[in-house]
Order: sequence, then structure tokens, then C-alpha cells
Amino acid sequence: SETERYSFAAGPAMLPSAVLAQIRDELPDWNRSGFSMLEQPFTTSAFKQLMAETEQDLRTLLSIPQNYRVLFVQGGASAQFGLVPLNLLRPGQSADYLESGHWARKAIVEARRHAPVSVMASGSTQNFTALPAAQDWQCDPNAGYCHITSNETGNGLQLPHFPELSVPLVADMTSDFLTRSVPVERFGLIYASAQKNLGVAGLCLLIVRDDLLQPPQPSLPSALSYAVQAEQQSRFNTPPTFALYVANLMLRWIKYQGGLAAMAAATERKSRRLYACIDHSGLYHCRQPAVDRSKVNVCFELREPRLLSAFLSEAEHVGLHHLAGHAAVGGIRASLYNAMPLAGVDRLVEFMTRFERIHG
Ligand code: PMP
Repeated sequence: SETERYSFAAGPAMLPSAVLAQIRDELPDWNRSGFSMLEQPFTTSAFKQLMAETEQDLRTLLSIPQNYRVLFVQGGASAQFGLVPLNLLRPGQSADYLESGHWARKAIVEARRHAPVSVMASGSTQNFTALPAAQDWQCDPNAGYCHITSNETGNGLQLPHFPELSVPLVADMTSDFLTRSVPVERFGLIYASAQKNLGVAGLCLLIVRDDLLQPPQPSLPSALSYAVQAEQQSRFNTPPTFALYVANLMLRWIKYQGGLAAMAAATERKSRRLYACIDHSGLYHCRQPAVDRSKVNVCFELREPRLLSAFLSEAEHVGLHHLAGHAAVGGIRASLYNAMPLAGVDRLVEFMTRFERIHG
């Protein structure tokens, strides 16, 4: 409707209105337990059932092979930046990283605190406006793993394909998780925070090949060990219960919409419409080459940068919120996660066209 508000925030993101309504309806008394979801112990059979169902839905949607474990942990993807090398590398072993943008750089800085890291290719010479070409990646066959960022949330870049490597491929999929299907069998580890496409903050998902689980180094706290959490079904300590509940609802919603094929088609449609508006305009400008453009974080600039604050405030007046680019990048960013309806993108395109007519 005309009064609907849309959040284009990079995260935490919008939730589908049907999911929000269900949370509101179920909140006072979850599962006829007499207590709200916020008050549920994680050790009851009802809550264990919720976790099992959440895992099963993920396995079905992503076709996760049997030899992979699904873990639900706290700490966000940022904690995994350090925990990946601590869990996957043996002493002295090095890791390869693709330096594709802001988030890959964060991952590299944290990993370097624990292990030798080699940057196999970098987009730094292009100021991270394009991805390094796949044929230029210098992979070390002796590396413990090779780390990529499937979607650079702040730079608006997304890897269209994933390589088949001889070393375990590790991916930070935080911003495009569940927006398309991925060949899980090519990965040693996939990790993703939930607050963009899978609900609310507090939950991080790990999908890890079971042969990579190893007894924790003595200095690694047990709660942060993949092997320990796998052994304990992600209940070594209290899991993020409310975020798990919302993830459970989000997965049902995704299934109901038609699964990952439907999510990918919707993401394609939304992003095409917005990029077409940008490419046909004289005011808006997207620097990323078409092949590297993210379908979930559309980043662009105004050829008249002085109009930026008018753009952002006039957008808010018509219900289009949180369109400012990442602080380190500037410009405009429209995040089109799973819960963003096509109507939100249509409203944005309509606004951009009108804004250009008036100011351009
Ligand atoms: N990686 C990527 C690609 C991200 O977009 C983000 C969050 N914007 C993070 C990691 C960090 O996630 P968290 O804040 O949950 O640690």
C-alpha cells in the first residue's frame, strides 16, 4: 500500500510481514507451553524439536550432503573470522584469502592474528569496485583452506560461481545466504550470520564437512570449538533461542514461497529492475562491471554528490528507509534481501525516476 515502509538496510533487515505477524501471535504462549518464546529453556523436547526441524529445512533447501554438520552458534560472522583459522588449521599451517572487499579484509585481519595468511588475489588496485578475475587467483595447494566472501555487502560485489579446489573452500555467505542455491559439496565450511536473509541477529550458521572437525587446540574455549558444538548438537551452551525460532519461521516462509529457486528468481527480478533504472539514468551511476554486480546489495552513486542528503531524506518521506551506502564506501546502497517485496523496489524506482526529473 501507499503507506507501507520499506527498509533497504544492509542488516538487520526487514522480515516478511507474515513472519512478523506469526511472531506477534505466538509470542505470549509458545507451543501451548504457558510461556512465551523468550522464556523457553533450550533443553525441552519441544525446543530440541524446533532445532531439529530448522536443521532439516536447511538440509532440504540447500541439499546439504550427509557428511556435513549444521551448527547454530552465537557471536556473528565477525567471531568466525578468528574462529575459522583456530578450528580448521593445524599449527604452522597457512590459509589463502580472496581480498574482494571490506568484509574479506576484516576476515583477513582477524585470521592473521592466529595464522599465516596469504592473499591469493586482491581487488585493492581497483579500489574494490570489481572482483579479481578467477583465473588470477593464486591458490596454494598446501594451504589449510581457501577463504572467499560470496557477497561483499558494502562494495556491491558478488561471486557468480564457486571454484572446485583441492583444498577446503571456506565461504562467508552472510549477505547472500539462502538467496540462491549453492553447490554445498564444493565447500569445506559455509558460515553466515542470520540477520539479513534468515531472521534476526544473534545466530550464526555453520555448515561444515565432518572430516574437518578436529579436537580443539588447548587454547580454544570449548563453546567456540566446532567439534565440541557438533558433538553436543549445538547445545554445549545456551544457543540463541529466539533467533533460532525466527530462523525456523523464515525457513518455512522460504519453503512456502517455493524454496531457493523462488528466492533466486525474486532476487534476480528485483535487482534487474533497479540496475536497469540506474543504467538508463543520467544521474545515477554504478561502477561495478555487470558480471560482478551484487544482486542483493545494489550500490550506486549520484553524479551530483551534493544531492545525496536530499535523496536520502526525500526517500524517507515516501517510506524508503536506510538507503545510505556503507560508511567506508559512501553513496547509496539498496539491500534486496529475501523479505524485500518487489513492490518495495518498484516504489524505489518510481522515486528515483521522479527525483532525477526534478533535480537531474
Ligand atoms: N560478513 C559479511 C559479508 C557481512 O555483510 C557482515 C555484516 N554486515 C559480517 C560478515 C559481520 O556479521 P556480524 O555483524 O553478524 O558479525
